[in-house]
This record gives sequence, structure tokens and C-alpha cells, in this order.
Amino acid sequence: MNDRYSRQTLFPPIGQPGQEKISSKHVVMIGAGALGSGNAEVLVRAGVGRLTIIDRDYVEGSNLQRQQLYTEEDVAEKLPKAAAAEKRLKAVNSEVGIRGIIGDATPEVLAELAEGTDLIIDSTDNFETRMAINDIAQKYKIPWIYGACVASFGMSFTIIPGETPCLNCLLKTIPIQGMTCDTGGIIGPAVQMVIAHQTAEALKVLVEDWEAVRTSFVSFDLWRNQYSSMKMSRAKDPHCLSCGDHPEYPYLNADNRAKTTILCGRDTVQIRPPHQSGVNLQEMAGRIKALGYEVKGNPYLISAEMGPNRFVLFQDGRALIHGTKDTAQAKSLYNRLLG
Ligand SMILES: [Zn+2]
Repeated sequence: MNDRYSRQTLFPPIGQPGQEKISSKHVVMIGAGALGSGNAEVLVRAGVGRLTIIDRDYVEGSNLQRQQLYTEEDVAEKLPKAAAAEKRLKAVNSEVGIRGIIGDATPEVLAELAEGTDLIIDSTDNFETRMAINDIAQKYKIPWIYGACVASFGMSFTIIPGETPCLNCLLKTIPIQGMTCDTGGIIGPAVQMVIAHQTAEALKVLVEDWEAVRTSFVSFDLWRNQYSSMKMSRAKDPHCLSCGDHPEYPYLNADNRAKTTILCGRDTVQIRPPHQSGVNLQEMAGRIKALGYEVKGNPYLISAEMGPNRFVLFQDGRALIHGTKDTAQAKSLYNRLLG
């Protein structure tokens, strides 16, 4: 497909040299939900060299309204998002090296990927992971693009280590922690607007058009017709523990990492065992069946149901316990099943 990127190379700020840069770069996408789906699709169509996409969840019916990579078939098969995304993205552009990783984007996983990563895109839905991305990006000098949305509201900011303030600096100005996803639902156009901002910035970074990179913090509300762009250059804190003169990267510290997490916007608790050695899914399916559960599965996970109890167990030993936000209750179920 010789003319595959012709419309993009005709765009003067990219051109043929820009296209060559794009195709030599590796982007890491953290999260394969609504933002991750759209960001990944745009960059894969744009011909990025390699794309790694990490996600810990699987596809459910309520995702289809806005998570553009997934189909009803993925829901029926309960495919992990990282596996379904990898399959779809490979079909979109076979020239791109695409790798899906099923699991948590822990500081360890992020550090392993850091070498050879040109850009990280935040498509996650939780504060803990964002702050870990922020510290990894500062430590390894990798540009990253923050993005978030809820209801009809969204925001984005581009972080270039050594140049711009980091997310930890911004927290003193903007109440980013207060953004939760389970309060106001979400509409597709808000997702797409954040994706548009993130991917435009991504292309600028990939072609190294540093002057074009947006330095302001953009936020909007598509329902209330509001759009704002805040200058952030003065937010950079020389004493910041993530990007200041004496960085300590506080969010890479293992003590800050929860092993039990309530998932965003859902009655679901994730349990991550301390040692992720993996489990034998077939053997586990037998054990769980013997306890009276109805068990289904695919090569990546098993899902089990008995009355109101419903959970999914992944190959890496993680479990998503559905129907609860009570971490103690979820843990006791996990221990009963796998202990
Ligand atoms: Zn900072």
C-alpha cells in the first residue's frame, strides 16, 4: 500500500520526513478502554512503528457504547481488552508491530518497557497508575500525554520531561484526583474530544515538532459548551519530588502500590497476588467447578458464577470479583478459592 499515508505526508508539518519518524517510533498505551481504543486506532492508522497496549480488564457489553475497538463477539467471548485490541489493530494495519499485554501497568511493568519507548499515552482511569506513569516518564525522560474524561467533560495535558511541569506539579493547581468515573456516566463525544487532543499531541511529539506542542492544560465540557486552555509554565515546582532538582519518584515506591483495588465505576474489586507467578487455568477451573460454580473460559481467563457471586480469574493470578466494593469480602472469597 504505497499511498497508505499519502494524506498525512501531504500535510506539510508531517511530510515524508515526519512519516519516517512516526514509523520508527514506539508508543506505549496504558489502558485499552475508551481512550486507549481511540488513541491506539488513530496512531496505528497513522503508521506508528510499534504500539504496546496494556490493560487488566476484559470486554463487557457496557463498553461497546464508546470503546471503538470492540465488538459483540469480543463481549460474548469475554476477551481481555489487550488481546481483543491487539487482534483488531493488527487487522487495521499489519505494518505496525502491535503487542497487547494483559495485566496491571505496575511500576515494574512500566520500567521494563521504558527502554525503547518514545512516547507514553495515558488512557487509564485511575490516579495510582497515572502517578506511576508520571514518575517513570520523568525518570526515563519519556514524553507522555495525560488525558481524562467523565460525563461530557474532558481534559488533556502534554508532559515533556525537563521542559514542562509534570502531573505531580499540576496537582497543586488542578484537582485531578477528584475526577472519578462512577458519578456522571460518560458520552462518546467527550471521549473522542480527548482522543483528538491526545493524538494530535502524539503526532507532534512523534515527528519532533516541539514548537507545535501545546503547553497549556486544556479542558472542555461539550454539553455545557465550555472550552478552556490554561497556561501552565509557572506551575513547574523546582522542589517537585517527581520532576524537581532532587527527584525521589514517590509513586514508584512499592509501598504506594495497592494490591487490592476497587475498579473505576463498577462494583468490582481487583485482587492482585503479591507474587505474580501465574496459575494453571485448567486446574483452577476444575477446582472452582467442584465448589459448585458455573465456569466458562477462553485461553486468557476463566469466569465463574454461582448465585450472586461472580468473578473472573486471569492467567497471571489476578481476579476481578464482581458485585462488590468491599475489599475485605473480595479478599476472603479470593483466599477461599485460591488459598
Ligand atoms: Zn513535577
